[in-house]
Amino acid sequence: MSDTLFSRIVRREIPADIVYEDEEILAFRDIHPQAPVHVLFIPKRAIPTLDEAAPEDALLLGKLMLAAAAYARREGLAERGYRIVINCRGDGGQSVYHLHLHLLAGRRLSWPPG
Ligand code: AMP
Repeated sequence: MSDTLFSRIVRREIPADIVYEDEEILAFRDIHPQAPVHVLFIPKRAIPTLDEAAPEDALLLGKLMLAAAAYARREGLAERGYRIVINCRGDGGQSVYHLHLHLLAGRRLSWPPG
């Protein structure tokens, strides 16, 4: 398993506020929340960036999105709405090279992002 910060969270070597887990996915609260709700959904099997995702990863990527949507529904966030973000590499603002999806909710989010 590649040793990203998030892989260490998967292995429980670093504490995290975990809100969802299944066989393939872990979700935990972002340590620097940008909205009242800011949860990261990661595949347990690390893919560094979206650019490195392969056709074989299509099902896993779909499951990540559906897990985030289901979480938003369970938490009562879906009706007001939310944003899903995947940052890719430098210009995209990616800082942890273990593909992850940001779920942001709980306030009106502006567009375009900064
Ligand atoms: P990105 O910039 O898209 O790569 O997102 C990485 C996110 O990980 C940032 O929003 C950070 O605040 C968050 N983060 C970094 N370290 C931790 C940690 N130990 N636990 C939870 N979130 C973290």
